[in-house]
Amino acid sequence: MGERGNALRAAARRRGVTVVGQETGIIAGVIVALVLCAIVAAGVLAVARERGTRVHEQGWRPGPLRNASIEYAEKTFFTARPVRLVARVDRAYRTQDAVLVLTELKRRRQPRVYLSDVVELSAQKVAIERSMKRRVADAGYVVVERPGTDQRTPIGVKLLSEGQVTALARRYFDLIVGMAAPRKADVLGLCNSCPYAERCKPRVLQRSRPDEPFSR
Ligand code: SF4
Repeated sequence: MGERGNALRAAARRRGVTVVGQETGIIAGVIVALVLCAIVAAGVLAVARERGTRVHEQGWRPGPLRNASIEYAEKTFFTARPVRLVARVDRAYRTQDAVLVLTELKRRRQPRVYLSDVVELSAQKVAIERSMKRRVADAGYVVVERPGTDQRTPIGVKLLSEGQVTALARRYFDLIVGMAAPRKADVLGLCNSCPYAERCKPRVLQRSRPDEPFSR
């Protein structure tokens, strides 16, 4: 750094002392400052992202869940009684009176609930109550998220009782092992898009498609 720096270095060399260059010190200082800036920026971004996620997460919540905290997220529960059940919980919220409220996120174009959603949430309730000895509310929410958007619509549903879940599970096992014969759903919405409709010939399609070959 100029004549003064060179003179100092020469004097130091004469005395057998090694001097670290002033330029090197400045460069090191700049690097340290840059690293510190990067660390601070990363911290600020992380806080902003976390705050944004929290706002998004809470924005759709219905009244009973506004002040609830997340107790379980994407967690699997198992119980062997009254029937063997494995259920994966999307979210379980703990309300202020220590009751768990279940929610299940679904991506759909329309804010709709199907019976299968209710069965899914009901099985989760039985699995948590049996395995964790926790109290789960009789009602839960199906949260429908419109694809490609952040728009979420929570739809409250009443859950099935443990007896109803057990009966469904037993019938399912009986069907799987051939101990029971399946009944036709005969539901227009299901049968219309069912690949087995030709073989099954449900009444509901025979009425709505009188000219189709299987109705004859
Ligand atoms: S067409 Fe038959 S198998 Fe398919 S959903 Fe309807 S009743 Fe069930």
